[in-house]
This record gives sequence, C-alpha cells and structure tokens, in this order.
Amino acid sequence: MLMKKFTYIQGSIAIIFGILMMLVSSTCSAVGVKKVESLRFWTAPDHTRLVFGITSPVSHKVFVLDNPPRIVLDIENVTFDTELPSFSAGHKVVSLLRQAARNKNDLRVVIDLKETVRPKSFVLKPNADYGHRLVVDLYPKSQQTNNSPVAIKKASNTPQNKKWVVAIDAGHGGEDPGAKGYRGTREKTVVLAIAKKLAAQVNKQPNMKAYLVRSGDYYIGLRQRMEKARKARADLFVSIHADAFRNQQAKGSSVYVLSNRGASSEAARWLADSENAADLVGGVSLDDKDDMLASVLLDLSQNATEDASATFAGEVLKNLKGVGHVHKKQVQRAGFMVLKSPDIPSILVETAFISNRQEEANLRSSKHQTKIATAIMRGVKAYFTQQRVPARPTTRLAKTTYKIKRGDTLSAIAQRYQISLVSLKKANAMRTNRIRIGQVIQIPS
Ligand SMILES: [Zn+2]
Repeated sequence: MLMKKFTYIQGSIAIIFGILMMLVSSTCSAVGVKKVESLRFWTAPDHTRLVFGITSPVSHKVFVLDNPPRIVLDIENVTFDTELPSFSAGHKVVSLLRQAARNKNDLRVVIDLKETVRPKSFVLKPNADYGHRLVVDLYPKSQQTNNSPVAIKKASNTPQNKKWVVAIDAGHGGEDPGAKGYRGTREKTVVLAIAKKLAAQVNKQPNMKAYLVRSGDYYIGLRQRMEKARKARADLFVSIHADAFRNQQAKGSSVYVLSNRGASSEAARWLADSENAADLVGGVSLDDKDDMLASVLLDLSQNATEDASATFAGEVLKNLKGVGHVHKKQVQRAGFMVLKSPDIPSILVETAFISNRQEEANLRSSKHQTKIATAIMRGVKAYFTQQRVPARPTTRLAKTTYKIKRGDTLSAIAQRYQISLVSLKKANAMRTNRIRIGQVIQIPS
C-alpha cells in the first residue's frame, strides 16, 4: 500500500534496493534463516498466552490498536514456518490470528481481539524441553482485578467464611509440562487430576472449602501461586507434584516443607532446583515488582508457619504410607519457591515417581489418583483437628510485630506488651525461648 505514494524514481531506487536485499537475504539463507517453527497458546482465567517457538533469539515490538481491538506483533528477520492455531468461537479474548511477511525479512502477526487487552511480552532461553521462545501474554483490561478478590467479597457475606480454606496447587501447567514418564505421561496432567479429586473431597467437608490454584492447562508463576492462595485467604497450601529421577528404580512419595537454612539432602536440593526452574520453562512475568514486598512479608512471619507446616506435612506423610511406598520416611526440607508463603502453612507432595514405570501407570489410574487424594485429605483433616482457633492469614498479618534487638528476651518482650510468655510463644509457634537479632515476631492482641 505504501508503494502507491512513491514516485517512479523512488520506485526504481526501491527496486534496486530490493534486488540488493534479495542478494543479502540469499546470503543469509545460506547461513540459516531464523524461523518461527511453532506457535502454541494457553488460556488461563486471567490471561491468554501465545508462545512462539523460534530457531534463534529475535527482536520484536508489540503495538496495541483500537477499533477494532487488535495487537500487532512485529518480529524482525524471521519467517513463519508453522501453522496458525485456530481459536474456538467461544474464546474469551482472541478471535483470529493472522500473519504476513513484512519488509521482505520481517514478520507481522496480527491478533484480532474481542476486547482491549494489556499485552506483556518477553523472550525465554532454551531449556531441556524447548528452544528459544517469544512469549506474548494478553491480559483483558476488563479484568484489572482478578477473580479472587470477588470470591472473597462473596464469601465474607455468608457464613462460608468460617470454613477452613485449603489451597490446592497442581504443579506446572501450560507451557511447562513438568516431568515426563516413559509412556509420555506428563506431570502437569496427572497432578491436576489428583488436585481436582482432592478439591472435591475437601468441598465435601462441612467445615472446609477448596481453592484450586490452577484449574486448567496453563502456567502460573511460582510467586503468583502463593499470591493467589493468600487472596483466597487460604489456611493451608498443598502443592502437588510427581517426581522424576535418572534411576528408574526410584519410587514412592515424599512430603516437603520449606527450609530457609538449606536442604535436608543433596537430592532434596536437586529436586528443589528442578521444581523452581519451572519458572524458566513456563515463563516468568517481567514485572515481578513485588519481589521486595514479598521478601519483607517473608521475614515477617515465616517462623510462625514453619512448625505448622511441619505438623501438616507429618500428617500427610503418615497417611501416604498407607497408599504405597514412601520414598523418604521423614518429612523433607528444601528451598521450594512455591512454599515461601510467610503466613500459610505450606507443603509440597511428590506423589510418586513418574519416571518409574509402575508408578507412572499408577499416576495415570483414576483409582490410584483417588487414593493419593484421600491420603492428603486425611492429613488435612488431622491437621485441622489439632487447630482449635482458626487464625486467618490476614488477621495474623494485621497484628503488631516486633523486631528482636540485641539484649531482648522473650519474657521481657511479653512483659512490655503485657501478655503472657505462653501466648507470645503460641502466636509465633515457638517451642523454645530462643530468639535471634533481627527476627520479627508477632505480638498477639
Ligand atoms: Zn513438579
């Protein structure tokens, strides 16, 4: 279209330039032209993710256009060498994808939308599963606030808010398949099935309510998972995974709690590293600005939940022993990112080894999935029976806190705030009077 405006002279210059460009591009193709070789999309409740698999890193630009709403994605120096995915007529955000070559060497992708979105794009480096990727996330503007706060509002108007809320986090999802079994079973699929079965069991309890952190096949960042659980006012957080190891004989389930002091074994550290690496596979959001806030919150009350997490983990492990082989007889400790909620007792269950042929078959079996869910459910029940007073994360955070200084003792602090030493220790889930400088403790009212 732009060519129409050109004079003949400009036109002939353009032709000469064009021939030159052809020469250049043919030289390039000898070296290897960059290609978009795959294009996937994942639909999450609050956004849609497009993932362009590319042969080498690319430069790109994203534009937002209105009337009708659409996104234009320009990728430099790349050809389109795959199929365009088709979106169902019922898709909430995207109606159509189009692509065309631009300026001879560049690619333009147009995303026709049903509503205005806020796009976010970033590139991901290759890993074991994928090569270079360009990720474009589309967040509908109508959903500035996500679903969770609405759910809370509703809950607070009914007696339902007296229920214990159990956040159930199915590991991985979407772009991140997790571990893979011999028969191609994907961790993200089986753990979601177990999570849904557990949620159904939790919802059958008159005093409990399940919150599924991930309810479909899409990825959620590790920090976001905790944020979602907190917004849902979860009293417990259980992340469900399936283990994998080079040695196919490895089998059984393990239960983990967070350790800030270091992993309980080399294997635990290795596992934590590989689970944490999910953010590199599934993709992180560039503007993870709340890192600072999160680390402050972490310091605030991590100690208070450590003991509760261990109690919960112990109950779940005890019940998993009834289902089958237990990989580690003790609750394991490792630095799992997803367990770093300062105020919600959190555990991570590696349900079985997907890399073990028998256990892979078990993980695929609906009957066995129910057994695992039931074992975790028993652990949840046992944990709540031990908790007399429901202490909501929000109320716990709202309390006064005190940062330990040199020379402080617990009893002196208790005296200063006119509370008993027992209640102070209880509020912080402390078994001993040991405190350390810089530690932040809760002062109960
Ligand atoms: Zn996992």
